[in-house]
Amino acid sequence: MSVIYTRVALIGLGLIAGSMAHAMRRAGLAGEIVGSARSPETRAIAAEIGLCDRITETAAEAVKGADLVVLCVPPGAMGAVAAEIAPHLAQGATVTDVGSVKRDVITQVGPHLPQGVHFVPGHPLAGTEHSGPRAGFAELFDNRYVLLTPEPDTDPAATAKLRALWEGCGARVEEMDADHHDLVLAVTSHTPHLIAYTMVGVADDLRRVTDSEVIKYSAAGFRDFTRIAASDPTMWRDVFLTNKEATLEILGRFTEELFALQRAIRRGDGDHLHAYFTRTRAIRRGIIEAGQDTDAPDFGRVKVKREPTER
Ligand code: NAP
Repeated sequence: MSVIYTRVALIGLGLIAGSMAHAMRRAGLAGEIVGSARSPETRAIAAEIGLCDRITETAAEAVKGADLVVLCVPPGAMGAVAAEIAPHLAQGATVTDVGSVKRDVITQVGPHLPQGVHFVPGHPLAGTEHSGPRAGFAELFDNRYVLLTPEPDTDPAATAKLRALWEGCGARVEEMDADHHDLVLAVTSHTPHLIAYTMVGVADDLRRVTDSEVIKYSAAGFRDFTRIAASDPTMWRDVFLTNKEATLEILGRFTEELFALQRAIRRGDGDHLHAYFTRTRAIRRGIIEAGQDTDAPDFGRVKVKREPTER
């Protein structure tokens, strides 16, 4: 594949920026990758592992001469970063972001960007519960969706170029209205995370169970909740603060359904439970068929065969 952007500036050097750097390198999509993070520790690690061609102390310095700027900071920090870089952006450059919420990011970032700079918001639907510059890997976006949410007045050529970059990183790209994105993600990601946080919190409250039994007997259900509930607290705090309306809407519906299931259990209404679980099972099949998860037993976890240790 050939170079799509001459100079890409990554602002924030965590899991997503790191994975983008690896994926762009793998396909030779960027002439130069410049990175910047607020803390000296993160910049030092990024330099040590050679994440970017160049690391700068400030975001303002990183964006100079870049034809693509990617904001890879938590959703709540996007506006402040946009204000910092705005006077230093090159004419004709594209600014994008990878934030998990779109409308609020557009509201924060848009007003800071000067005329002649294109803003194409984006969100890769790929991640892990790990953070920081060492967490990134080139395959993160392979076959995963990236949603771009350009506003109606966004230059289609800028969107098309960014689409090509993401496709070069292995992703499938779709365009969507920002509000619709936030509602869809409230259903598929934000509310499920909140439920996982709650379930793990409930278990933690039941001290007599958690002390040892929750860990010792952690079966697939709870164990998978704990993986989700280990996600970055800053990012997820910001997700709920910036996607408030859609999350509250879905949470309201969730609570109603929960009460209905609670009533079915109390009344011994097995038919209701069975019909409900049959419907939900079909959704899992759809996800497997769409290639978005594995149907290997135990979610494809590799069993490590333990050799007896010598004494
Ligand atoms: P991460 O690994 O925690 O990295 C975050 C980066 O942002 C770090 O370099 C951090 O700098 C910097 N940062 C944090 N707070 C900041 C602030 N107030 N001002 C300036 N910089 C700040 O996070 P990530 O997982 O890559 O997430 C980055 C973005 O991707 C978020 O907007 C998130 O919504 C989105 N996203 C995440 C996932 C996921 O699963 N993780 C998936 C899709 C999209 P220091 O290291 O110097 O503190």
